[in-house]
Amino acid sequence: MSKLWQARFFTTVNQLRDLPDTQVPEIAFAGRSNAGKSTAINILCNQKGLAFASKTPGRTQHINYFSIGGAHVAQHRKDPTIVDEIECLLVDLPGYGYAEVSGSAKLHWQRLLGDYVQRREQLAALILIMDSRRPFTELDVQMLEWFAPTGKPIHCILTKVDKLNRNEMANVLRQAKAKLASYVDEDGEGFPFTVQLFSALKRVGIDEANDKIIELAGIADPDDADLAGAADAAAEVTDAADATPDSATDSSTDAEPNS
Ligand code: GDP
Repeated sequence: MSKLWQARFFTTVNQLRDLPDTQVPEIAFAGRSNAGKSTAINILCNQKGLAFASKTPGRTQHINYFSIGGAHVAQHRKDPTIVDEIECLLVDLPGYGYAEVSGSAKLHWQRLLGDYVQRREQLAALILIMDSRRPFTELDVQMLEWFAPTGKPIHCILTKVDKLNRNEMANVLRQAKAKLASYVDEDGEGFPFTVQLFSALKRVGIDEANDKIIELAGIADPDDADLAGAADAAAEVTDAADATPDSATDSSTDAEPNS
């Protein structure tokens, strides 16, 4: 069971001054409306109605927070979340790109999202959700460029790959990697940007996205780390065993010139 399955509605805010004063890491999800952001959050958290797509532009200007930790299995659904026990917060940012949004609503979006991603210290990483058939729209690039200077990671999730054939999937992934690699800082260094393919419908990339989010939030279970450590140790043992015949051959070869 993934830790993300513990996700629980925490709060909703419409103004930056109302952001919670929690200090735990935040992982924010951004994307164009209709890119599949709510569907991705719901499937990763294994809850159908956690994040919901609002098709009403006026209702899209909120930032919704979901907590991981702070609620126990035995706890009643309506019991308050224990804030001190929250391990991280998932942040569902308002979807952008509604054609019909008026100038003032656009400005509100720009200020809310721009200020949040650029200034929120607790923000650990951004998950950028893009439709694999139309990635890197102007507003997606705007998000990337707002966030890149913070030096924090961006993980791009290219959704709905069930609409692509294998060839198209490979091309889209390759092009996205090239696009992300084209961003460099003034010293010519790349940014911590990653990308993956995803389909909620065909359940492609769910484990990969889950593991990445857990890693970015820094909430991996110590038990999992122990398991990974044990696996590494086992691999080292195997490597050492594999190496033995080689080193035996090497030493005999090395010995030849002397004899
Ligand atoms: P949001 O506006 O970004 O939150 O997007 P939604 O999650 O509401 O998804 C927008 C539309 O795309 C909905 O009709 C979803 O059913 C559809 N959708 C989401 N994920 C997938 C997917 O993996 N494959 C396909 N084919 N459709 C998807």
